[in-house]
Amino acid sequence: MNEALELSLNDWQILFAGWNEQKFRAAQVCQWIYAKKVFSYYDMSNLSKGLREKLNNNVMMYLPILIRQQTSKDGTKKYLWQLQDGSRVESVLLTHGGHKTACISSQAGCPLGCVFCETGANGFTRNLTRGEILGQFLMMEKMNGGDINNIVFMGMGEPLLNEIRTLNDKDMRNLGARHITISTSGIVPGIEDLADFGIPIRLSLSLHAPNDALRSKLMPVNRQYPLQKLVAALRRYRERTGERITVEYALIDRVNDAPELAYETAALLDGLEPYINIIPFNPIPSKPELKRSSRVREFCAALSELNIEHEVRKERGTDIMAACGQLAGSMRTSS
Ligand code: SAH
Ligand code: SF4
Repeated sequence: MNEALELSLNDWQILFAGWNEQKFRAAQVCQWIYAKKVFSYYDMSNLSKGLREKLNNNVMMYLPILIRQQTSKDGTKKYLWQLQDGSRVESVLLTHGGHKTACISSQAGCPLGCVFCETGANGFTRNLTRGEILGQFLMMEKMNGGDINNIVFMGMGEPLLNEIRTLNDKDMRNLGARHITISTSGIVPGIEDLADFGIPIRLSLSLHAPNDALRSKLMPVNRQYPLQKLVAALRRYRERTGERITVEYALIDRVNDAPELAYETAALLDGLEPYINIIPFNPIPSKPELKRSSRVREFCAALSELNIEHEVRKERGTDIMAACGQLAGSMRTSS
């Protein structure tokens, strides 16, 4: 059976043509779903009763099922969803100055196993479908009564190992490319695709170490896509899109927080004009030996000295483990 959120406008049109329905009906259905967040065919009041019935019998409207929701002291919300096959993924909703940003999962688990990441520690189940990615977003919009302005693929999984362009589809949710950020561990072919894709989706690179020896230890994906290739892909993205890249660097005590590594980072990214986000490392239950850095100030001072634009990311939702890298699909409560 067809599933509503898996269909593009074109798919809807083909389906309706087969039912001898007029073409504009397809756009009407998409309007209900994506603009009005109406997920029950029976409430789509400008469709005939017969068509509503037919849709109900033939196109499944499947949305992620909310298993649990937690709200942080700072208003950050974390959602645990269950998908059709029982897989569980998490999303986070951040509110700042009236703007809402949804942090979405692209995979159930993650196959890349970065040593500092809770998602990676829990293994990998599968890629999410386009409908499952859209579903997280639409459900949060519906539950929070209004549009969410930005989306970042910083939830569970590696977005560049999946197809993530759906949200920008102008017939569907029509979220502008500039409001979509993809965070990647450095999948070179994915970055190259993004560079050549022609729409300026924002790119955030999880660097965490400026040399191959250290980065390969922390992020096994670096063995497949070492820094020289990675930086070349970033340059291509920068040139083709004109967009600046954000670089994420989580400071882990005595692991990657030596101020010399800040100089090395600056040299590695020379000419790219990156914007560096220093993330306070979020300790994770499976790796108690990894601690938050005590040298954040020294590291930042080194970046300042070299005139590298950077900021220490403000922490959000840490009391409900909704922060970067802490999503695991089980929704443990912090004790
Ligand atoms: N797979 C993608 C996106 C999801 S992870 C990626 O790796 O970029 C989102 C961000 O959280 C990444 O920057 C990741 O490096 C970071 N992260 C993972 N575990 C973390 C932790 N324990 N503390 C701080 N940041 C972490
Ligand atoms: Fe996967 Fe990103 Fe976690 Fe690495 S940091 S294991 S790439 S989700």
